[in-house]
Amino acid sequence: MAAIDVKDSNILQSTRTKPVYANGVYNNPWTTWVEPSFCKVLYRMLVKEKDHSKIPSEKQELDKHLPVQKPDFDQLMNPPKSGVQATWIGHASVLVQLDGITVITDPIFSERCSMFQWIGPKRYRPPPFKIDELPVLDAVVISHNHYDHLDHGSVVSLNKKFGDELWWYVPMGTRRWMLDCGCKNVVELSWWEEHRHSPDQNITFCLTPSQHWCKRTATDTNKALWGSWVIKGPNHRFFFAGDTGYCEAFKQIGEEYGPFDLSAIPIGAYAPRYVMKSQHVDPEEAVLIHQDVKSSNSLGIHWGTFKLTYEFYLEPKTKLAEELKKSDLSDDCFVTLNHGETRIFRK
Ligand code: ZN
Ligand code: ZN
Repeated sequence: MAAIDVKDSNILQSTRTKPVYANGVYNNPWTTWVEPSFCKVLYRMLVKEKDHSKIPSEKQELDKHLPVQKPDFDQLMNPPKSGVQATWIGHASVLVQLDGITVITDPIFSERCSMFQWIGPKRYRPPPFKIDELPVLDAVVISHNHYDHLDHGSVVSLNKKFGDELWWYVPMGTRRWMLDCGCKNVVELSWWEEHRHSPDQNITFCLTPSQHWCKRTATDTNKALWGSWVIKGPNHRFFFAGDTGYCEAFKQIGEEYGPFDLSAIPIGAYAPRYVMKSQHVDPEEAVLIHQDVKSSNSLGIHWGTFKLTYEFYLEPKTKLAEELKKSDLSDDCFVTLNHGETRIFRK
């Protein structure tokens, strides 16, 4: 498939905040950002913070509250001509089908989101299907290199299954890692840069900002960039927020690329707030993002799969419903899906 580079199109410079980059390290330009190291100090000072996650150990109990469905493969193989079809695989992994293409966000099918598969956060809900069962994928978007978003085993398996037909979209600083995994078509972008994926289908991928950070090893903190993604088709638009704290980026994204038919926005891994606030939104802030980017529909992600933080494991879903009640938004404009569930979203 031919790909035309249309980096830095003629979007107005004034509304596009760029990342700070100095001495090979990226930084957040946002006044709302607090360094994680500072958070850690605070965390140690207040280490008595209670863990409220209470994830049941019995499968039966988990199946009752967080059922994992077998997907409707017929629906996945035959996406609708109109609308955005989304399937929640778990955590931040979403299978998105719009305007004739099939894309997966931050794929993780592995048992643990960690440097090693014998230690580190283990998933408490399994993936609803295997990589081998996926419909033909056109592209993968990666928001940043944390282990719960960029998983080595999943990248290698996806590359093995789909090979050179698959395109990988990553933020600056991650291309080399992808090439070392054997991936061939790797497009690396900075914030507000665009890449025309398919001239025939008129589909463009754009890396947009977020408020987060990167780290995989002891020495690579913020040597790669983080971000959110816009997929712009001739008829539909999808926004993937990645991992993020709340910041002014989302109003800018709404102005430049909104409205969206569907946004995938994180709603979990937010407690305790004084540690997590600048890097992970809570449901209240997720609703602000939904409004800022001008989304008709949103899907809550980044919850219910790995234990990363201290909020009750079902709280992201219940808090989201409470926040929608408090606002003047309808309760079906921002939803959660079961693992493996597919839904078609329209304007
Ligand atoms: Zn992260
Ligand atoms: Zn994450």
